[in-house]
Parts: sequence; C-alpha cells; structure tokens
Amino acid sequence: MSKEQEKFVIFGNPVAHSKSPQMQNAGFESLDYNGIYEKHQLLDGNTIKETFLQNNYEGANITVPHKEFAYKNADEVRGLAQRIKAVNTYINENGKVIAYNTDAPGFLKAIESFGKVKSVLLLGAGGTAKAIALALQENNIEVTVLNRSEGKLEFFKNEGINCYSWEDFEKEVKEKEFDLIVNSTSAGLKDEYLPCDKELLQTLFKSAKYAFDCVYGKITPFLALAKENGLEIKDGEDMLLYQGVLAFEYFTKQKVDEKVSEAMRKGLKKE
Ligand code: NDP
Repeated sequence: MSKEQEKFVIFGNPVAHSKSPQMQNAGFESLDYNGIYEKHQLLDGNTIKETFLQNNYEGANITVPHKEFAYKNADEVRGLAQRIKAVNTYINENGKVIAYNTDAPGFLKAIESFGKVKSVLLLGAGGTAKAIALALQENNIEVTVLNRSEGKLEFFKNEGINCYSWEDFEKEVKEKEFDLIVNSTSAGLKDEYLPCDKELLQTLFKSAKYAFDCVYGKITPFLALAKENGLEIKDGEDMLLYQGVLAFEYFTKQKVDEKVSEAMRKGLKKE
C-alpha cells in the first residue's frame, strides 16, 4: 500500500503573500516526494502547537508574527534557536513538536558567495537581526548592531554583542571599519527609506566591500547606494531560498542536492 501524502504548512498572519508553498511544492515535485505544502492564516499564535497537531501536519514553517509564540509552544527547541528564542520550522516527531531556526544558517549560506568576511555591521534589531547576529557570533565573525532606537538592544547586550542606537553610534564607532554591511531593518521593504543616515552610510561604504539586504526581489535604496559606492551587493533571495531548503531537509529527512535547491529557486520566482 502506498504511503499517505504528508502535509506541510506555513503559519503566518498575513500569509497570502507567502512564496513558501510554491518553493516547497517545487522541491517535493523535483524529488518525487509525496508531500503537499499549504498556507494557514493563524490569528492567535498561542494556538500554534494544537493547530499543528490537530491538522496532522508533518512539518511547518512559521512567519511573522508567530516565530516567538512558536518557540514558546514547542515541546523541544534544537540548536541555535534556543538562544535566538524564535523559530521558523516545526517538525512532528511521533507527536512531539520539535522546533528549529533555519533563518540563521540560511543567512550564513547566503553570504558565502562574498568569500571570507571578518566583521559585519548589522542594521536593525528585530527578529531577523537576532538570528543573524547569533549566527555570525557563533561563526566567530565580529558583529556590531546598529538600530534606530534603544528599545530592542537589550537582547544583544545580554548576548555580549556590541550594539548601539543611532544616538550613541556616531561618537563611539564612527572610525571603525566593517567588511560587510547588512540591512535587516524593514526600511526599503514597502517604502524608499534608507536604514540609517545617508552620510553615515557613505562613510561606512568607503571601507566596506559588501552589502546585503534581507529584503527580497528588489534593489532597495540601501543596495542602490552601496552599488553606487562600488560595493558588491546581494538581496535576500538566497537567504529566503536557503532557509527554505534547510527546512525542506528537516521535512523530508534527507540532504538535498543542487538540483532540488535550484528547482525550489525556480518555484520561488514563479509569478
Ligand atoms: P521586525 O519588525 O522584527 O524589526 C524591524 C527593524 O527595522 C527594527 O529594528 C526597526 O527599528 C527597524 N526599522 C523599521 N523601519 C525603519 C526605518 N524606516 N529606518 C530604520 N530602521 C527601521 O522585522 P524583521 O526582523 O522580522 O524583518 C526585517 C526585514 O527582514 C523585513 O524587511 C523582512 O521582510 C526581511 N526578512 C527577510 C527574510 C529573508 O529570508 N530574505 C527573512 C526574514 C525577514 P526600531 O527598533 O527602531 O523600530
């Protein structure tokens, strides 16, 4: 008797815009894996575990605003996610909900194309910044966080990461040089803002080599300015792809090759 089709899902609110189903389903198709991946708009993050189990999902991705709820509700959290305190992947292991964060290794894989990076200035201090900062720290890459406001810096201070608000930064580290500047703020996502002061960025770009923006599928004002200043630039497509590929490997319990990840990339880019 053939095995029943396995169900997978992305939880978010809103979730209609998510490209994860087309990416994950392209992976299943390329591997001839009997799985189906759907969207689920989840209103109350506190119900995430029961919703996951009651619907017999084998695996899930979790997006805004539920990553912290998903962390708190899991039966077991594995890997760096224990420190990030937010997860984007659930796996059903014999009725137990196991949680991972694949945004962090997805980011590291995405910046591999830049070659060796020694020091990073990370703009923003939201959920994505937490994953990126800890991933860099774990890989012995020096990381400094710069955020518009003070409020979200506590997490980074507690993890021993250098962090500043716009107010303190200029006087403390204006002279410092970074190889890579990362925009993990939402500036540029739906607007045309830079993630920090233009003059400051131009000074930083003089000594930097690379610029990465977590925003996917567009040249943000941040990337445009970096390019103008001669930096090698990259948007968030690879990060989105690799977090998805790593989740896919947990879902299907196997390592996948380039053929599958390229099929997933094609799926992601389908209109
Ligand atoms: P959060 O809402 O958790 O954090 C947003 C951060 O952006 C805060 O630090 C906030 O600063 C800062 N910010 C917002 N607007 C501005 C502005 N105009 N100028 C300067 N700083 C600003 O968001 P996330 O961390 O979840 O997501 C951040 C970005 O990363 C989004 O654009 C998202 O689309 C993208 N992303 C991409 C992924 C990928 O795979 N490619 C994966 C996940 C996210 P303050 O504290 O002062 O409010």
